[in-house]
Parts: sequence; structure tokens; C-alpha cells
Amino acid sequence: MKMTQEPSLEAFRQEVRAWLEEALTPELKEAGLKKTSVWQEINSAIEWQKTLHRQGWGAPDWPEEYGGTGWSLEQRYVFAEECARANTPGLVPMGVKMCAPMLIGYGTDEQKARYLPRILDGTDMWCQGYSEPGSGSDLASLKTMAVSDGDDYIINGTKIWTSYAQHSNMMFALVRTSTEGIPQKGISFILIDMATPGITIEPIINLEGTHELNQVFFDDVRVPKTNRVGAENEGWTVAKYLLQFERTSMSSIELRRQLQRIERVASQTGMDGRTLADDGDFQRQLSELKIDAMAMEVSEKRVLADLSDGKAPGPVSSLLNFVGSETLQRAEVFAVQTLGYYGIPYELARLEIGYNGPPLGPDDAMPILGAYLNARARTIAGGSSQVQRNIVAKAMLGM
Ligand SMILES: Cc1cc2nc3c(=O)[nH]c(=O)nc-3n(C[C@H](O)[C@H](O)[C@H](O)COP(=O)(O)OP(=O)(O)OC[C@H]3O[C@@H](n4cnc5c(N)ncnc54)[C@H](O)[C@@H]3O)c2cc1C
Repeated sequence: MKMTQEPSLEAFRQEVRAWLEEALTPELKEAGLKKTSVWQEINSAIEWQKTLHRQGWGAPDWPEEYGGTGWSLEQRYVFAEECARANTPGLVPMGVKMCAPMLIGYGTDEQKARYLPRILDGTDMWCQGYSEPGSGSDLASLKTMAVSDGDDYIINGTKIWTSYAQHSNMMFALVRTSTEGIPQKGISFILIDMATPGITIEPIINLEGTHELNQVFFDDVRVPKTNRVGAENEGWTVAKYLLQFERTSMSSIELRRQLQRIERVASQTGMDGRTLADDGDFQRQLSELKIDAMAMEVSEKRVLADLSDGKAPGPVSSLLNFVGSETLQRAEVFAVQTLGYYGIPYELARLEIGYNGPPLGPDDAMPILGAYLNARARTIAGGSSQVQRNIVAKAMLGM
């Protein structure tokens, strides 16, 4: 693990802070402040990826030879902290954080050369085609079929809960290439151009009232075999490798960003001249969440250290996943409670970039209810909490 000495780390923090100050336009700042989900409003997500790329900071976690920054573990953590502090927009995680590490691990030289630069500079948007109706936790039961036809596969079937498919020009997907033997053995990992004839996308509106999710249908979709990652029928190994990266997010930093927001709301003076921030019960709940954030940070740094040593995170990523998503959900509930009556009204229009209607409630109130509603799905989205616990029990505790 590469560690950086404190004085140079502080200088690095100041460098990042100064750059963020300059790089964040008012629109990008507004977009970051209004973020309610893992999924940032698409235009600001793309613009932010392009801005980071121009600075050479588009993919801090990648090896340097593919465009990574060469930063130490501590520097990457500081960078993420400073981004949270400045409320930068989020990125679309499927490309930089998931598809790219998978390609670096399993892609051919041609696939790496073609796709990595386009992920880095924000040209390609990727979505994930794993889940199907009836095949979520039990993913190996998936039925979308890819039949060999010369140099191509012909794909038929459907994927569901495909986040941001409507904004993506590429999908990485699991398809069935054999029905022989155990289900895991007949799956292949394939990269699909979303402009291919035969693909249709239908929206699914979430609890928050926004369009993040979709069902995608494949009707005789022809995909070249050169788009397969890994050997035929060996896609399960690639899929599991990628999931470890999906389940390794820095929830502690996201949690701190939310706690800072809660503290700002609570510090505003109420009608009786007092602030909620002075209340003992409020302080106790806030402190508990801050302690959780510290514990999460230590575990996340251990995983980051493994990543920077070239190791995949392994089953501990499942632990981080369910602890992170459940703690974030608790923070979202606390945020709504902090808002009091202002937590009741909910108008989606207020979250649009450029909305200039009169304020409703304290500053910072706007995204809180949307984030709470959106966060209900957190304990399902990247694999349900129950299933993550099963993985931890089996792979870490030997149960
Ligand atoms: C917001 C959101 C975004 C998503 N984005 C994507 C995406 O982009 N791409 C994609 O491919 N998928 C995506 N998904 C799908 C997600 O991966 C699945 O929803 C998830 O794996 C659960 O599968 P399921 O919905 O079929 O539920 P089921 O597997 O039917 O689970 C239903 C319930 O049963 C429990 N359960 C199931 N099996 C077990 C078990 N063995 N032991 C104990 N309990 C169990 C679960 O915990 C859950 O509570 C997304 C989901 C959400 C909610």
C-alpha cells in the first residue's frame, strides 16, 4: 500500500480544493446540491466526467497505464472527501467504476484499447444488463438467450431494472449460451451497442417519481462474438469479478456529505429562536451516525488498499455494501426528521437545474425527501442486504 506523508497530503488537499473551486460552474454546483440518488442528472454527470478528464483526474482508481492518476490510497480518499465537501455532481458509476475495472481484468487488448479511452473522456455511457424478471438474487437462472450464428450471436430476451439504459449507448450483459449442466456454466459476458436493431427500452418510474429504471427487450439482436468478454460459457466468473467493484463504494464519504447537510439544516434558527442542533437527542443521533462513518471509513480504506495493490476486493465488498446502504438509509430518515414539517411537501420541479421558484423551508431542504424516497431501493439495488449477508456468512465466516 502506498501511503503519503501528512504535509504533502495537506498540500494535495489544498490543490484539489482550489481546482474544484475553479472547475465547478454554478450549474455544476447546483446539480451536485440537487443530487438525490446514485444517478446524477445525466448532462451534468457527463460534463463533470469530461471536466475531470481534461484535468487528468477522470479515473483515480485505474492503473496509470490506462489513464489513472497514480495517486496513493490516501490521496484518492482525500480527493473523494474534497469532492463531497464541494458537493460536486456524481458520475455515472457503470463505466468508470464497474465496466472499466472488469475490462482491465478480463478484456482483450482490442476491447481495452477501444472502450477504456471512451469511458475516461465521457464519450460512452454504459448500463448493466444483469437482472431479468425472476432472476435478480437468483441471477444464474437468467434466460436471455444468445444463439451462435457464424461470427455473431443472435440475442432474444429481456433485462429489467436497467438503470439509465435510456441514456446509455453501451450495455454489458449476461446472456445464456448453453442450457447444459449447472446454470452458472452456461452464461457468457457480452458488450452490446444499444443502437443495434431489435433493442427497445421501456421506462419504469421509481418511488421518487423519476425515470432511472427501465426494462430492455431484445428481439433478434445481432452482436459480434468479438464483443464477448472471457470465454464462452465462462461469463459468470467475469460477472462476479465486476460485482465486487459495484459493491465497493465509499459510503462513508457519502454519509458525511449527508450529515453535513443535516447539520446545516439543524443549525437554522426555529420560530422559538432556538436551533435543533442544540437539542441533546439530535446530537446523540448525529454522533452515532458520525461514529458509523468513521468505522466505515476504516473498512473502506482497507479495501482501497487491496485495490491499489491490484487485488480484487473479495467478499468484504458485500459487507461494505449492506452496512453502507443500511446506514445511508438511516441517515436519510434522520434528515427527513430534521426537516420536520418541511419534510412533507414534495415537488419534483424544485430539483430541476435552473428552478427559480420561491424557497420552501431551510436552504438544503430541497433534495432531502427525494433522497429519502430514492434510498428505499438502496438495500436492493446492488444485490439485496439479505443476499449480501448470505455471502458474508458463507465466504467470510465459513457458515
Ligand atoms: C434502484 C435499483 C437499480 C437497479 N439497477 C440495476 C441495473 O442497472 N442492472 C441490473 O442488472 N439490475 C439492477 N437492479 C436489480 C437488482 O440487482 C435486483 O433488484 C436485486 O438483485 C434483487 O433481485 P430481485 O429484484 O429479483 O428480487 P428477489 O431476488 O426476488 O428478492 C426478493 C426478496 O427476497 C429476498 N431473497 C432472495 N433470495 C434470498 C436468499 N437466498 N436468502 C435470503 N433472502 C433472499 C431478497 O433479499 C428480497 O428481499 C436494480 C434494482 C434497483 C432496486
